[in-house]
Amino acid sequence: MSTIDTLGTATKAVIDTFDRYVVPNYKRFPICLERGAGSKVWDAEGREYLDLFPGWGCNLLGHCPAPVVKAVQDQIARLIHVPNTWYTEAQGEWARLLSERSFGGKAFFCNSGTEANEAAIKLIRLRTDGVKYKIITFRGGFHGRTFGSVTATAQPKYHEGLGPMLSGFQYAPHGDLDAVAQLVDDHTGGILIEPILGEGGVVPAPPGFLEGLRRICDERDLVLAFDEVQSGCGRTGEWFGYQHFGVRPDVITLAKSLCAGVAGGAMLTTPELARHLRPGMHAATFGGNPIAARAGIAAIEMIENEGLLAHVGTAASIFRERLEALRDRCDAIRDVRVIGMMIGVELAIDGAPVVESCLEKNLLVNCTQGRVIRLLPAMNITPEEIHDGCDRLGDAVVEVASRA
Ligand SMILES: *Cc1c(COP(=O)(O)O)cnc(C)c1O
Repeated sequence: MSTIDTLGTATKAVIDTFDRYVVPNYKRFPICLERGAGSKVWDAEGREYLDLFPGWGCNLLGHCPAPVVKAVQDQIARLIHVPNTWYTEAQGEWARLLSERSFGGKAFFCNSGTEANEAAIKLIRLRTDGVKYKIITFRGGFHGRTFGSVTATAQPKYHEGLGPMLSGFQYAPHGDLDAVAQLVDDHTGGILIEPILGEGGVVPAPPGFLEGLRRICDERDLVLAFDEVQSGCGRTGEWFGYQHFGVRPDVITLAKSLCAGVAGGAMLTTPELARHLRPGMHAATFGGNPIAARAGIAAIEMIENEGLLAHVGTAASIFRERLEALRDRCDAIRDVRVIGMMIGVELAIDGAPVVESCLEKNLLVNCTQGRVIRLLPAMNITPEEIHDGCDRLGDAVVEVASRA
């Protein structure tokens, strides 16, 4: 029985409105979500789902985490927005908390991942007044949809029909240090990479790769920028993904989970580089607004007050044990990659029918790169929910594999 056959009247009315009034640039499931709590979410027909991909990675602390809800409610009644021509206590405090948990740098605030990467791209070019304007990125990476970021995204499917792309980007195979070294010339200004590919299939940088990039950047005077829009903010069990690799970047970009579901983005950079993003050269009207700042602060405090970085370690080992056991008894699973609450289950079969089958079992998951089931569970997911989710996912994979 497919979900479409069971479409309720409330959902159907919403879909009709969309069909008439909303630009059809997204593929959507025929489900209208109404409310959520933790790793559970309910649709307009009253169906309950277990959400292992809450908010596409934005809802780091599950749906509607109480301390974040409270911080936003308090703030919104006092000041909704003020421009960056004024100071607010919240923005400074937020920057301090991020700085102390990363490499002691400074923050530029914006509203999304693609904007954070645009800031990094501009910073790299401004550092040498455009002399060293070229930026090296990696095949399989993903950096966003605005023109700079989508050009940085070295996947042809995201460029189709959009050309000409921004000039000055060069693409290297992921993991190939020699290729990177060969691309560097006197006009190369920086390297932009996700330390753990997200959309690219949940693939950590191979051993030694980020260290090698750091060395090349030091030798050739390049900026090393890590796109941590997906891997940052505690998701992997460290505050930032790079902290697993012992390599210090010059720039990190953040968004998605930064404000636990409220829109917000940031670029963090060293004090030395920060001065190159000089007044007048970059801005974001809503960047660092009081609501995003309060949500971002509340998210960090909740992670610390509830010991969630340590909890991610426990939760990840349960996922790993369950998914590896599934891989051992099911040929349709090629590989299991668990980096905290960033999980990829690589299949030998198409992922779309598996996602459909999960949906029939009231389980929300994602598929990326055609064959990788991607989970970005909430940091505060419970062991019971993990077991329940792995049971349903396992049934779905086995069922679809037996049909193939
Ligand atoms: C989602 C994502 C982006 C883009 O973020 P938006 O907020 O959608 O602009 C950039 N980089 C990475 C690694 C992402 O996962």
